[in-house]
Amino acid sequence: MIKSATIQNDLLDVYAIREHFPILSREVKGKPLVYFDNAATSQKPQVVIDALTDYYTGYNANIHRGIHTLAEEATAAFEKTRDTAQQFINAASREQIIFTRGTTEGINLVAYTWGRQNIKAGDEIIISTMEHHSNIVPWQVLCEEKNAILKVIPINDDGELLMDEYEKLLSPKTKLVSIVHVSNSLGTVNPVKKIIEAAHKVGAVVLVDGAQSTVHLDIDVQKMDCDFFAFSAHKLYGPTGIGVLYGKKHLLESMPVFQGGGEMIKEVSFEKTTFNDLPYKFEAGTPNIADTIAFKTAMDFVNKIGKEKIRKHEHELLVYATDQLEQISGLRIIGKAKEKTSLVSFFIDKTHPQDIGILLDNRGIAVRTGHHCTQPLMHRFGIPGTIRASFAVYNTKEEIDQLVVGLQKAVKMLL
Ligand code: PLP
Repeated sequence: MIKSATIQNDLLDVYAIREHFPILSREVKGKPLVYFDNAATSQKPQVVIDALTDYYTGYNANIHRGIHTLAEEATAAFEKTRDTAQQFINAASREQIIFTRGTTEGINLVAYTWGRQNIKAGDEIIISTMEHHSNIVPWQVLCEEKNAILKVIPINDDGELLMDEYEKLLSPKTKLVSIVHVSNSLGTVNPVKKIIEAAHKVGAVVLVDGAQSTVHLDIDVQKMDCDFFAFSAHKLYGPTGIGVLYGKKHLLESMPVFQGGGEMIKEVSFEKTTFNDLPYKFEAGTPNIADTIAFKTAMDFVNKIGKEKIRKHEHELLVYATDQLEQISGLRIIGKAKEKTSLVSFFIDKTHPQDIGILLDNRGIAVRTGHHCTQPLMHRFGIPGTIRASFAVYNTKEEIDQLVVGLQKAVKMLL
């Protein structure tokens, strides 16, 4: 459990927080690890790791159908995660929390079920320039299959959506808007409430990709009024291989099934199968039980510290890093939106991000380099990729200083 001293007052004791993450005490290439690849996946606190071990050592069993003690314990723990996830995003009911492998599977689930049922030839789907490939490819595949049209909201040079252009794209032909809440390459926080309101006026359904937002922002799917919301546990201090798709009940109820198999049925005969109620209708087969259970622990961890405190700390890191990085000559920050989460993407003239990444790794500093699964966005900025430093609750200003020194040395070596 998090020590109470860690979360006293308004201040976050980052050094006490760090003690919860065993990996942060390891070395890389003989140097203390500086982990700035949190937008790809965050590190896991000991409580999350313990939750996995506790399940496998204490009550490993398949869930829902067993009547023995272990099965009942495992089922109860698994279903508690659904309740916690419901509260975490303020869904109206637990039936609206569908467990998936992560954001990608959540988006694909909607594309393969709602999409195939509702999208017809000539219909339009709107996405944006800053989408992750997970929120581009499923819609491209659907559009190709149905002869529908994919439209793209442009952005300005700061990496913000051009809302006027978005409004111009909307028409009665628009059936779906699928939009990223926070860009993984720019850090931009998109005005999803406004986007949703405008889409609803033309009768379109809206999916929000919450992969990057759920760890930083307070999520209230009812206030947001999104129709679908997808996120992954591994970006919020939880395990990989588990995520959530939230949907409005009437939509989830009317959608055809995604995968067939055990768990998602009520009754099967060779003549006819009747499907289970929500949420099980979309959860075929033995789920990822251990990771789902540990996902609850991760959400509890975040709740215990409090997102507001986390945000405050991360914002300080963002401001500090932006100031420091801007001192480096030839460094260009990609993504200067007014509303940003704790992520800095940048490019250094006459260098390749990959070379910089390797030199930083030699100093124990983990950043992500490349296109970050947003190739059309990189194309928009006319660059092959960026160097991305993304900050989490356990990062410090001293680590940012090390990044700056590492970059200065790398630039000297490469130029
Ligand atoms: N959308 C965004 C904005 C992301 O950043 C990511 C992952 O980086 C995804 C979708 C896909 O998430 P996952 O790989 O967990 O399915």
